[in-house]
Amino acid sequence: MTSLKRAHFAAVAALVLLVLPFVPVPDFWITQLNYIGLFSLVVLGLVLLTGVGGLTSFGQAAFAGVGAYTTAYMSTVMGLSPWLGLVAGLAITLVLALVIGALTLRMSGHYLPLATICWCLALYYLVGNLEALGKYDGLLGLPALQLGDFSFRSERRIYLLIWAAALLAAVGVTRLLDSRPGRIMRALNTNRGGGATMPEAMGASTFRYKLVMFVVAALLASLSGWLYAHMQRSVNPSPFGIKFGIEYLFMAVLGGIGTVGGAFTGAALVKLAEDQLKVWLPVVFGGSGNYEIIVFGVVLVLVLRFAPEGLWPLLARWLPARGHKAVDEQAPRLSARSHPPRGAALLDVRQIRKQFGGLTAVNDISFTIRAGDIVGLIGPNGAGKSTTFNLVSGVLPLTAGEVELLGQRVDGRGSRAIARAGLSRTFQHVKLVPDMTVLDNVALGTYLRTRTGTLRAMLGLNGAEEAQARAEAMRQLRRIGLDGQAHELAGNLALGPQRLVEIARALASDPSLLLLDEPAAGLRHKEKAALADVLRQLKAEGLSLLLVEHDMDFVMKLTDRIVVMEFGRHLMEGTPAEVQASPAVRAAYLGAEE
Ligand code: ADP
Ligand code: MG
Repeated sequence: MTSLKRAHFAAVAALVLLVLPFVPVPDFWITQLNYIGLFSLVVLGLVLLTGVGGLTSFGQAAFAGVGAYTTAYMSTVMGLSPWLGLVAGLAITLVLALVIGALTLRMSGHYLPLATICWCLALYYLVGNLEALGKYDGLLGLPALQLGDFSFRSERRIYLLIWAAALLAAVGVTRLLDSRPGRIMRALNTNRGGGATMPEAMGASTFRYKLVMFVVAALLASLSGWLYAHMQRSVNPSPFGIKFGIEYLFMAVLGGIGTVGGAFTGAALVKLAEDQLKVWLPVVFGGSGNYEIIVFGVVLVLVLRFAPEGLWPLLARWLPARGHKAVDEQAPRLSARSHPPRGAALLDVRQIRKQFGGLTAVNDISFTIRAGDIVGLIGPNGAGKSTTFNLVSGVLPLTAGEVELLGQRVDGRGSRAIARAGLSRTFQHVKLVPDMTVLDNVALGTYLRTRTGTLRAMLGLNGAEEAQARAEAMRQLRRIGLDGQAHELAGNLALGPQRLVEIARALASDPSLLLLDEPAAGLRHKEKAALADVLRQLKAEGLSLLLVEHDMDFVMKLTDRIVVMEFGRHLMEGTPAEVQASPAVRAAYLGAEE
């Protein structure tokens, strides 16, 4: 218990940074650290947006420009307080980020980076040509920041503001990543096997979280720009152009994209290296030029090749391990939904159909599930089971037919609405967040039973609810027998346990109906047996299940009723014994094996 934790280390580092201007360190250090703090603020936004969310922006320098120019114009031309300039700058940034984000974030991956490049270039030339903003000379004579009688005129003084902002932002981003919204954000990164399907199935609007990340990153950049403007006491377009947009991204990648420590590491390394290179490279190559860009390019390639996670993870190895928060199992329970009584109508699938071009993958399939039932949906490969599953769970739109869940029409309503109506699911290809703990992955399933938003999480006001979510996650892990592995990274588990974690995550949403897509696929014999035990236990607890499965033996022992599909059609329906005895089913399976 007395061992030094990562959090203690961070606190000591923060303390050292904040007392530095009060001790006689050289002014040069302070200047350098001011820049590093300002860069870190911007890069922290990229950690969230690019590292965590997988969304690339080259436009962060432009958002810094918005913050800088707004306060410059308001304080010099209009004679208003820099604090008003801060509020106005953040407000303008917010609107711009919402507009740019809304226009591009619904589109596929490449549109955002392209849009941010355009936005950065456009702003640069606009500002450079506007008479009111002093064209390429910029605006001079900004006032120093003032708080009461205390003026942040000197570098040593504004240092305090810069580092207070950077450290608070670091705390905010750290908290956010470890919260209800953060779990969704971490699940979105397509570069790490994530995407929209799973978060949507847990009830989260992925578009909304992408937009939130984009806005938070833009606001951090804008804040950095405001501080920069009042540190320099002047602004001009050059630090807000595309070159800096690229450099910020470079800092994020070099430091370790996706980690808060990486933001500071990258900002520090680039700033310090740039200064040295600016001195030495012209000596080596002669003349003057931006030779450091060449060096950075080479370094970037080397880092991506040999340390793709950036340099921070290499440094972090020397730091004390990150302690995991204890789970308070006495925390009050999250609200539960009222489930239908055993035997009540739960799911009614009527004549659903799905066509992919000329192929009818699902051809007028109907079946019902009553509360407490375990129904199997089987058929040879390509029979249309997964498609049926996706139609019922709202991942795919129906061509025709109706789906009723608990008396409520849910066809055409999308997977978020269906999750809210009480259906939860697992995935044939496991969709866990590999670099998140098992416990956090399961806690993601409590999304619809919790409320915490981004701001609340960043301010650390979500403690009580977070404790409830974690306690619920632990309870579900115990239910499936994986509580012992709660604090391991999900990516370190074998496929069998991963499938069980997915079930626990689905259970954490307190569903009335649980859909499992090929839970036994790819499992070894022992893992299959463990899975069957869990499913039997869930059945005994009265849970309703739809089990889509290719493996007939696995389904036979577990289900009350089985629906058999072949070539998209309904082949037969009956008890396991009836299905087993059916020559038509045997022929379908034999035909498919050939
Ligand atoms: P199963 O899960 O029973 O193995 P699927 O539902 O995955 O079967 O597939 C049923 C049929 O629909 C297959 O012929 C498959 O190739 C086709 N199919 C599935 N998804 C798509 C899609 N997105 N676009 C076109 N065809 C698809
Ligand atoms: Mg399938």
